[in-house]
Amino acid sequence: MPVPVVFMQLSSCWGCHQSLLNAHFELLPFLSEFEIVNWPTIFNIKDETLIEKEARSIKVGFIEGVIRTEIDTLKVKLMRQKCDIIIAFGACASYGGIAGLANLFEIDELVERKFKEVESIIETDLEEPKLNLPKFENFIYNVKDLIHIDLFIPGCPPKTENITALLLYLITRLSDGSKNRNRAKTVCDNCNLYFDGCLLDQGRLCFGPITASGCELMCPNNSNTCFGCFECTLNPNKKVSKLHKLIIDIDDLNDELMKVIQHFLISYLRLSNLTNFYFRKDLLQRLVYEPESFTQIEKETKNGFLQMLNVKPSGIPIIDEIIGAILFLLKNSSRFKFSTKTVCSHCNRIIVDKVPTRLKRDYEGLPTQDKCFLEQGYLCFGLVTHAGCGTICPNKANAPCLGCYGPPVGIKDPGPKFISSLGSLCVDLDPEEITKSIKDPVGLFNRFTLADSILKHKYSDKIDELQ
Ligand code: SF4
Ligand code: SF4
Ligand code: SF4
Repeated sequence: MPVPVVFMQLSSCWGCHQSLLNAHFELLPFLSEFEIVNWPTIFNIKDETLIEKEARSIKVGFIEGVIRTEIDTLKVKLMRQKCDIIIAFGACASYGGIAGLANLFEIDELVERKFKEVESIIETDLEEPKLNLPKFENFIYNVKDLIHIDLFIPGCPPKTENITALLLYLITRLSDGSKNRNRAKTVCDNCNLYFDGCLLDQGRLCFGPITASGCELMCPNNSNTCFGCFECTLNPNKKVSKLHKLIIDIDDLNDELMKVIQHFLISYLRLSNLTNFYFRKDLLQRLVYEPESFTQIEKETKNGFLQMLNVKPSGIPIIDEIIGAILFLLKNSSRFKFSTKTVCSHCNRIIVDKVPTRLKRDYEGLPTQDKCFLEQGYLCFGLVTHAGCGTICPNKANAPCLGCYGPPVGIKDPGPKFISSLGSLCVDLDPEEITKSIKDPVGLFNRFTLADSILKHKYSDKIDELQ
């Protein structure tokens, strides 16, 4: 069955949709998998089609842009009401983007600048439009400040390949899976080792007792453990108790166990194993990005005390306990690794120490193409920016990274983080010279993230809010 999808544009430049369209013929395989209800880029710019739909009847809704007007606010609420999965599509929807910098000004100042002062229009007859205008909201709001967002895809715009990878992932995740799957039975029911040689009896983590039957490969018949590709059974085999006990008895995850359980979680729960987007329903990603969002519980079972994270991905209590216990082990293991790479990680330039000898504005001189921008004195935000674009600006455009992919895992606000990194790199430079060479600190340090930063807007507004 095609998956119903809606695309919505708020206040934005349309670039994220353009990046999607740049896939050209590569979009063809996806189109038959989706029932596109609204896609203003291509057809139907009216919201009526969406208004008529039942609540939550649209599986996936993409939102591009920020909330600038009251109409944007209504659109966002409508999307949340009608869609099951909401995707913040691009930098603006994810963390405010360039548009978020408007929070440094009053509305009147913005209107004045746009319609009266800007150099490109002062010679024209353009006047401030007054008719049929939506009312402005006081500030640029992040979509996530108003509604729950399920998935974030960063970038200004997100790279076409990142979007198509996401579409492919959604198709896989939302598909019905194998026709052979029988959720009433388990892999154990067809296993040659059931009565003699069961891998669980050898202390090996085999997930056959909690996996639906239907698989023809049958790894256990070749003495390999089942990793749960056929996903959750509704009727766990009685051997589940042994599996449960093996998990309870793990006190430390060695490298081998770490591989086994990550492989299991990815296959069993259809996790993405990608880092180009963040999907909150992906329990591994959530463990990395928002570990504090899990509650931890302890339960006395017939196999002993079980420490687990409180999750219910299957709705079958014993399976949810096993998954919760595995996530608990991961959360507390120093061996649990997830890509936290930055733009610097994929940079082709020669890096010695990233220490600048003098800071330069972008237009001063011409940077060489082989040496780290920071070492040449140009401020490059690769070190506080999430990887995913292929480090396209430093590698292909001889331009420093501006930070459009937002912060990597572990950095809440890339602006202050960059200031702190710069402070430790520029120990030999005169602080006054540094300050003088930075003409627009907010626009530089929080170029894409001001609306999602600690301050969110002007400091004076923050003071007003606090009083
Ligand atoms: S736990 Fe694994 S090895 Fe044991 S019977 Fe089930 S599928 Fe076979
Ligand atoms: S700071 Fe910029 S130029 Fe230097 S390694 Fe990182 S991405 Fe490359
Ligand atoms: S290098 Fe930086 S600014 Fe350029 S596309 Fe990548 S994340 Fe964005």
